Amino acid sequence: MGKVTGFLEYERLSEANLPVTDRVRNYKEFVLHLTDDQARIQGARCMDCGIPFCMTGCPINNIIPDWNDLVYQQDWRRAIDVLHSTNNFPEFTGRICPAPCEAACTLNINADAVGIKSIEHAIIDKAWENNWVVPQPPAAKTGKKVAVVGSGPAGLAAAQQLARVGHDVVVLEKQDRIGGLLRYGIPDFKMEKSHIDRRMAQMEAEGVEFRVNQNVGENVKAEDVINEYDAVILAGGAEYPRDLPVPGRELDGVHFAMDFLTPQNKVVAGDKVENQIMATNKHVVVIGGGDTGSDCVGTSNRHGAVSITQFELMPQPPEKENKELVWPDWPLKLRTSSSHEEGCERDWSIMTKELVGENGKVTGLKAARVEWKDGRMQEVPGTEFTMPADLVLLAMGFVSPVQKVLDAFGVEKDNRGNAKATTDGEGCYATSKPKVFAAGDMRRGQSLVVWAIREGRQAARAVDEFLMGSSTLPR
Ligand SMILES: Cc1cc2nc3c(=O)[nH]c(=O)nc-3n(C[C@H](O)[C@H](O)[C@H](O)COP(=O)(O)OP(=O)(O)OC[C@H]3O[C@@H](n4cnc5c(N)ncnc54)[C@H](O)[C@@H]3O)c2cc1C
Ligand code: SF4
Repeated sequence: MGKVTGFLEYERLSEANLPVTDRVRNYKEFVLHLTDDQARIQGARCMDCGIPFCMTGCPINNIIPDWNDLVYQQDWRRAIDVLHSTNNFPEFTGRICPAPCEAACTLNINADAVGIKSIEHAIIDKAWENNWVVPQPPAAKTGKKVAVVGSGPAGLAAAQQLARVGHDVVVLEKQDRIGGLLRYGIPDFKMEKSHIDRRMAQMEAEGVEFRVNQNVGENVKAEDVINEYDAVILAGGAEYPRDLPVPGRELDGVHFAMDFLTPQNKVVAGDKVENQIMATNKHVVVIGGGDTGSDCVGTSNRHGAVSITQFELMPQPPEKENKELVWPDWPLKLRTSSSHEEGCERDWSIMTKELVGENGKVTGLKAARVEWKDGRMQEVPGTEFTMPADLVLLAMGFVSPVQKVLDAFGVEKDNRGNAKATTDGEGCYATSKPKVFAAGDMRRGQSLVVWAIREGRQAARAVDEFLMGSSTLPR
């Protein structure tokens, strides 16, 4: 609960960032976690509100008031134990979670929310610094074998939970490194990859086996996986990107965001990448206003782009939400990321009509302003404009998982092409195919790291119950 009067005495303090001029010269993290004393004071702001809405706002139901109080008392050792009881990877969420918990914080109704994410960040960093994060190998082995297809946060959380109750877990990953979008989507400046490597070492010591370059449904047969393992979890993410079907789409210089972001992460990891798409000295236009688009902005700034413009089709959201209407839910409001702060023009209600080029290369973009009436979009006459663009990055979200792997396993899909499985009751996370389960973006569609961790943990429990008849894993 923190200090009874803490919320009256202390202001919210955000984590400090390194200056823009320094940080855009490299790909290192630039958010500095709170000092012990700062974290103690921030923990003190958590009040005895009675019903901790923050815990229901958090998809993994982190026991936030308890660790806030423990940090206030400077009992960091117990704080990490409470945090780990619901979250396998606080070093990921403490860095890149959008913190829906803070939107739901009771203090957020008429003041600034408790800085929950920054306290989480401080707890886990201290735990690693003090070697409190150690392997938790199982007391006994069950002799059951589980394959996890995909090594993003959903697959990793499922694998860790299952290994800790004694199953032999093999993670099959088609890429050359483990981590899913944590590794090859989210840029290093938001989350350095040593955090994944450290967790992998812990998980290997707990008995998890990682196998890379295993493209299930391609170079590894789905049938063999089904025959070899007692259960399979499909956690392959939602990788199929939304395209922009306008004239000029085929021009050189028009790329999906992931074709721009992934190679950069590989270069930071020390790989040599042939023909890397670079934003250096270019006019960059990013189409799409979400996380992926913002990561393209941050990467383009680090490449040394001449100009960066980000367009969004939807109208500009309000700067502030009407809390009386939306609290404790996640509000639609204008969000300015650290990448936007580093330099970028943004505009909303913009529809790209055509990509124009010379000699097969993109040179510009033709667009117009739109207005939205009753959920329908209309072009505003006379607003058409053309602007220069040497690099156009398409960051309009992801439509569905790649269908091939789902078809290879023969699992039923929902109407959006995701693996069909429920999340409640008997048979939850089970697909239509016996002993095949699904979790994370592959089941729920494009989402967040924290939701992937939740689904991985819950799917692990469902698999454990399926294999053993009952489970001691948390729901
Ligand atoms: C650029 C970008 C930035 C993002 N930023 C944030 C952020 O800041 N905060 C946040 O919370 N969320 C963010 N997200 C969303 C978040 O990364 C995802 O919701 C989350 O990673 C989903 O986890 P997952 O485990 O379900 O799938 P993924 O992380 O997508 O992992 C799936 C893994 O499965 C592997 N795979 C797929 N098919 C096969 C196959 N047939 N055989 C073997 N392996 C296979 C893939 O290679 C991949 O490694 C971002 C997403 C993107 C694209
Ligand atoms: S995981 Fe995300 S939602 Fe949950 S407490 Fe941490 S920052 Fe908040």
